[in-house]
Amino acid sequence: MDSEIELLRAMVKALPDPVFVITESGHYLEIAGGKDPAYYHDGDDLKGLSLYNVMPKDKADWFLEQIRKTLAQNRLRTVQYTLSQKDVKGLEKAPGPDGDIHFEGRIQPLPVTLQGERTVVWSARNITSQHELEIKLQRMSETDALTGIFNRRKFLEQLNKCFRKFKRYDRPTALITFDIDHFKRINDSFGHSTGDKVLCRLTQNCTAQLRQVDSLYRIGGEEFAVLLPETNAENAYQQAERLRQISEQLRMEDRESADKITISVGISEFADTDASIEDVMKRADACLYEAKRNGRNRVVGG
Ligand code: GH3
Ligand code: MG
Ligand code: MG
Repeated sequence: MDSEIELLRAMVKALPDPVFVITESGHYLEIAGGKDPAYYHDGDDLKGLSLYNVMPKDKADWFLEQIRKTLAQNRLRTVQYTLSQKDVKGLEKAPGPDGDIHFEGRIQPLPVTLQGERTVVWSARNITSQHELEIKLQRMSETDALTGIFNRRKFLEQLNKCFRKFKRYDRPTALITFDIDHFKRINDSFGHSTGDKVLCRLTQNCTAQLRQVDSLYRIGGEEFAVLLPETNAENAYQQAERLRQISEQLRMEDRESADKITISVGISEFADTDASIEDVMKRADACLYEAKRNGRNRVVGG
């Protein structure tokens, strides 16, 4: 019997991730596990303290809210949060990882009342490396590898978002699309890698010209789009014209005498009669096509 209790005690102590028993008023009653300083700061000193003694109020409020929700729902809940050593008083001297640690917390109601209060078991797992990978993959999935700006996938997602917002609040919103003129010639005359450089520099110059709220997307090989919230067709036209001028001023490195780089631009203001983003895009496409047909290096508005 004794050896069984000893075994249980040793097992609880050696739990790979830290486990806390916390009351519904936020007191740490018991702490075990999480002893490896490569992953965790030893939290033994927190025992007997309140969340509010050791954390900033907003963080402690959040923890308590999770505890209360878990007790109310009476089931296992999983949450994610970020904490660092400096967020928790009492851990200052404990060895452990530097900087932010991203945790997955799993909170389970305990079927016993302790000191007259309901309690939960909260286990905290350091998932920082997975979390960083997740962020990196997310960023990669929405970014164009050559130019570093948002890609077509992100464009369609944001266009849908803007469209839903437009339908709800009826605020003016515009879409600009543009396509580099005779880009094939640039590749054919100067090589593909010069073509790539042109795409990158054009992208940089356009981004520098746009407002913070307007995002530039690469939606095809040498096709781009800009989403402009709170912008009507007239203002979008002015912005488009500035983009056209910026492109015209771009010169390929060491080739001052080379042909100008020009773009053809189409504009579409969101309309009440639009049923979906396809309607918005169709109008911009039609304008762009007309700009090409009318001689390129021009802006056509809807
Ligand atoms: P237009 O004025 O009618 O748009 O003529 P264009 O030559 O620009 O049009 P077209 O669609 O025929 O050619 C687009 C070219 O863009 C062909 C393709 O090789 C090139 N392109 C697409 N993506 C890239 C890229 O990532 N890098 C480079 N260097 N070229 C690209
Ligand atoms: Mg083109
Ligand atoms: Mg094209």
